[in-house]
Amino acid sequence: MSASKTHFRTCNLCEAMCGIAIKVEDGVITSIKGDEDDSFSRGHICPKAIALKDLYEDPDRIRRPLHKVDGEWQELSWDDALDKVAARIASLQAEHGNDAMGVYLGNPNVHNTGSILMSGGLLRALKTKNKFSATSVDQLPHHIVCWKMFGHQLRIPVPDIDNTDHFLMFGANPLASNGSIMSVADVKQRLKDVRKRGKLVVVDPR
Ligand code: SF4
Repeated sequence: MSASKTHFRTCNLCEAMCGIAIKVEDGVITSIKGDEDDSFSRGHICPKAIALKDLYEDPDRIRRPLHKVDGEWQELSWDDALDKVAARIASLQAEHGNDAMGVYLGNPNVHNTGSILMSGGLLRALKTKNKFSATSVDQLPHHIVCWKMFGHQLRIPVPDIDNTDHFLMFGANPLASNGSIMSVADVKQRLKDVRKRGKLVVVDPR
């Protein structure tokens, strides 16, 4: 008899945070669909979430730490890997200064509880000024405006799209970003609803 189970989860690939239903039979993912009962995303799903199965099962996915020995990749334990990395960071910083380390934090860090809790401590311990992220690539001006207008870089006004009658949008394409920080699953339908209620105006310098 096959063991079948559906796991209800949040897609962690972007800020839209769509609810997804992952069906598993005998330990194998057989389907990933939008969760119709998710009050936020209302069943919406995009191709990226469906492809989570491919990511999960990719035979080339790295599941254990690897290091190269004589040109060949070999597995090593997490303890050995962390010791190796720590020793190398310490020797590089001793030789070239703390700023010899550059750090880049990708978007998925904000969708991972462990990373959210621990990355601040790690960054402080590294004492490097060379810290980069999706933020430093594309949204620091936004943070500076919020800091100057509202007193903190994270006081970012978010439109209440489901209750907006006149939506004035500057240089953004939520169809591509799903609203980014606005976090709007199924933004296409929600923008259509704005147009039904009132007006959508896009000012795009490009
Ligand atoms: S829009 Fe796509 S990638 Fe973003 S949370 Fe929803 S399903 Fe995931």
